[in-house]
Amino acid sequence: MNQQPGTSGLIFNEPLLWDKSRDGRCAMSLPKSDVERAPLDANLTGDAPKLPQLSELDVVRHYTRLSQWNFGVDSGMYPLGSCTMKYNPKTNEVQAARKGFADAHPLAGDEFSQGSLKLMYNLEQYLAQITGFNAVTLQPAAGAHGELAGMLMIHAFHAKNGKQRSKILIPDTAHGTNPASAALCGYDSINIKSGKNGILEPSAVAAIMDEDTAGIMVTNPNTLGLFEANIKEIAEIVHSKGGLVYGDGANMNAIMGIVKPGDIGIDVLHLNLHKTFSTPHGGGGPGSGPVAVGKTLEPFLPIPRIVKELDSYKLVTDFPDTMGRIHTFYGHFGIMVRAYAYILSMGAKGLTDASKLAVLNANYVKESLKGTLNLPYDLPCMHECVFNDEFQKEYHITTMDMAKRLLDYGFHPPTVYFPLVVDGAFMVEPTETESKEDIDQFIDAVKAIAREAKEDPEKLRKAPLLTKVTRLDEVAAARKPCLRG
Ligand SMILES: *Cc1c(COP(=O)(O)O)cnc(C)c1O
Repeated sequence: MNQQPGTSGLIFNEPLLWDKSRDGRCAMSLPKSDVERAPLDANLTGDAPKLPQLSELDVVRHYTRLSQWNFGVDSGMYPLGSCTMKYNPKTNEVQAARKGFADAHPLAGDEFSQGSLKLMYNLEQYLAQITGFNAVTLQPAAGAHGELAGMLMIHAFHAKNGKQRSKILIPDTAHGTNPASAALCGYDSINIKSGKNGILEPSAVAAIMDEDTAGIMVTNPNTLGLFEANIKEIAEIVHSKGGLVYGDGANMNAIMGIVKPGDIGIDVLHLNLHKTFSTPHGGGGPGSGPVAVGKTLEPFLPIPRIVKELDSYKLVTDFPDTMGRIHTFYGHFGIMVRAYAYILSMGAKGLTDASKLAVLNANYVKESLKGTLNLPYDLPCMHECVFNDEFQKEYHITTMDMAKRLLDYGFHPPTVYFPLVVDGAFMVEPTETESKEDIDQFIDAVKAIAREAKEDPEKLRKAPLLTKVTRLDEVAAARKPCLRG
């Protein structure tokens, strides 16, 4: 086996800054003041805050050590399915940090924000082109927020047509945020079972689509990493009853430059700039979930919209059918700069190649681990593949045991127990940015763990063994959180 990236050496213990504090220790030496001491205002006296007293080196080591306890794409492969944890070129960070962008103020007014508005306008145009839609709003702050915006547009569309509907169809392979977004708009979500091959059957949709159903939300590629090949036929069924099709485009990393969702019957789609278009994520944000719409829903886009007149750009609120506002100002601008830099530096061919490589890498993982882990849907996959722990059941080893053990081998675990349609799911998304050598190391690690399941299951059940803390009591962590540190 190749050497693994994981090691337990030279990972330091680190106490709190308060514990390291020594009275009188200081990070700088100031010359003795030649100004006479003056008493403080009475309101400001009292006990001085007990801040830690440390040297510069104490502080540098403290934060450097803490940073090394962390794991990110910059430290190793992060195969978290459904998240597209790919490497983000550092140039995109440099562009977003440029003074003109970083210091732009949303209250500066259109006249003083022409560069930023132009960037946002062009980004909307590029995203419209990539997805095959008419118009885009960049405002939503995340994928789920984009879903909410899309649902509110569908809601506004039915209201405008004079009759509100009460239901939304949601397949069992949809992301969990889909039913939540539908519920926030007051819709009841109706679950549809996927067919045996993991994708939706048109007949299942036809059987329940009616004139009280506002539409369907389809994640495509779906959360099994499979392309919903019947989407066009399904869209026709939904449209024939006056419904609309919401596309969850969080998995666009598999199909950029290959499939345009606007061409296959979808009416409204969100993207996750922080997944597909190169913004670092994990740790909760900020994100950006632009929404693209076709002709039917364009009048309902949130305001303000960016309008180009001759060579100038302005934010316009005068759209009578708009669903209203979804964000203060115009969303998370820094993320837009990163996405814009990414799209420009990749070009159309680069984006298409990225998707092809993402799909190739996932299929490579799928084929290499087939036989080691059970593969409930053995079909060519898109950008991720879903295994489970069926083969390890005889040794009483679970997906969680294997995921924990991967930490010892130096890998962030894949997504576990999602999607819900696969019992004990182990979902791997290698992304296009991993090299064959790194993917091979990951595959070797999973194979070694599968051997351990057979030969030393006791050890696996205690994993991780080499990390700073070993197996945590996750139930206690969820039920009795210690929020004081
Ligand atoms: C990540 C994801 C979402 C939600 O996106 P957030 O930006 O986390 O809100 C929705 N659908 C799918 C398929 C996803 O993978």
